[in-house]
Amino acid sequence: MSFSALGLRAELLLAVGEQGYTTPTPIQAQAIPAVLAGRDLMGGAQTGTGKTAGFTLPLLHRLAEQPSPAHGRMPIRALILVPTRELAAQVQASVFTYGKHLPKIRSLSVYGGVGFHPQVQALKRGIDILVATPGRLLDHLSQRTVDLSKVQTLVLDEADRMLDMGFLPDIRKVLAYLPKQRQNLLFSATFSDEIKRLADGFMHDPLLIEVARRNAAAELIEQRVCPVDRERKKDLLAHLITEGDWQQVLVFTRTKHGANNLAEKLVKSGIRADAIHGNKSQPARTRALAEFKAGKIKVLVATDIAARGLDIDELPHVVNFELPHVANDYVHRIGRTGRAGSSGEAISLVCVDELGLLRDIERLTKREIRKEIVPGFEIDPRIKAEPIVQGKRGQQQRRPSNAPRKAAGNRGQNAPRQPAGRAGSKNSRDSGRRSFAY
Ligand code: AMP
Repeated sequence: MSFSALGLRAELLLAVGEQGYTTPTPIQAQAIPAVLAGRDLMGGAQTGTGKTAGFTLPLLHRLAEQPSPAHGRMPIRALILVPTRELAAQVQASVFTYGKHLPKIRSLSVYGGVGFHPQVQALKRGIDILVATPGRLLDHLSQRTVDLSKVQTLVLDEADRMLDMGFLPDIRKVLAYLPKQRQNLLFSATFSDEIKRLADGFMHDPLLIEVARRNAAAELIEQRVCPVDRERKKDLLAHLITEGDWQQVLVFTRTKHGANNLAEKLVKSGIRADAIHGNKSQPARTRALAEFKAGKIKVLVATDIAARGLDIDELPHVVNFELPHVANDYVHRIGRTGRAGSSGEAISLVCVDELGLLRDIERLTKREIRKEIVPGFEIDPRIKAEPIVQGKRGQQQRRPSNAPRKAAGNRGQNAPRQPAGRAGSKNSRDSGRRSFAY
């Protein structure tokens, strides 16, 4: 199947060709004709499947077919809701790239953590496609600096992630500002009952497309667990990077504090590293990402929220320095590697505290992950499991033995307005005084 068979305008095919894409990915082959036909769509696809082009290309096609009035302010005709600022910026970059040969389609991304006023000015100039995070969009709606009454297509991208981040109430509020008659597209790596309930509430006879097995981690990703004692994780990571001569690795921690600490420690061991998380300014995050992509830094340490939507081509290694509390996050994390057909490796450093989390992940992905102890990092069976202290949105951090009990994770600009409140009692499974055993 070639792109030209999908019915897209020549300007879009030209842009696709310039990107070097020769064949549509499975989600593109299914989604593009359906979106062109005006259907509602629920796409089960994680990052790396080409889903962004899957909805952006037909959206651009439809907008170009009915140009906005030549005079007066252009009404927003398409709204794309995304969970994070990084994803907002990236989706808008895709809209720009794919739409650059079309006659004047304007797009804008609005998200928190950057100035409000420049966004107001840009909105005033007229926008066809708005990409937004729910929180900042609601701020604009309440100030009446945005008008969504002419939206024809709504896209919810990474819907599962938005729900995990506690954005459901915000999404519902935004929906109330949209015209009833519209096309709805929803993309999600997984379909929980909560997502299905949300979709049932506003979608009309959606076409269901699933490109990856439900909740399955991508087949191309080689997954491995390295059991290790908690205090030796940093040394093991440095060892893996050095021994493997890794040039580019994305490392996940559960907390912002943990991300900073780890990046500092790696730098001290002579490994070029930086951290990216919600407490860093947008320019600092953009710079770290650019340096990582350019190979100036080898290791980017990120929290789940900050890493969402990072588009890094052919990332060879992803390391879970700590397992996520929400098993779904594991699928998202490892989806950063093995993208669009290239293979990748995802290694999880798992200490005795995290065995319950590991079991949750294996249950969700319906596969047992290969365990491999790295020589020199054998487990000390005398070390017993300690509880993982929990912060907001299911984040956890291990409480240093000398530190007072305190919730982790401040509400950053990009943090959810309401905690997701799903961590709860699940965590008690990890608190048993258990030694490492499979
Ligand atoms: P996404 O899943 O939308 O985040 O896209 C993942 C990556 O795949 C991006 O880097 C895209 O540039 C790339 N991509 C999208 N569509 C194709 C295609 N048809 N062929 C090759 N690469 C693609």
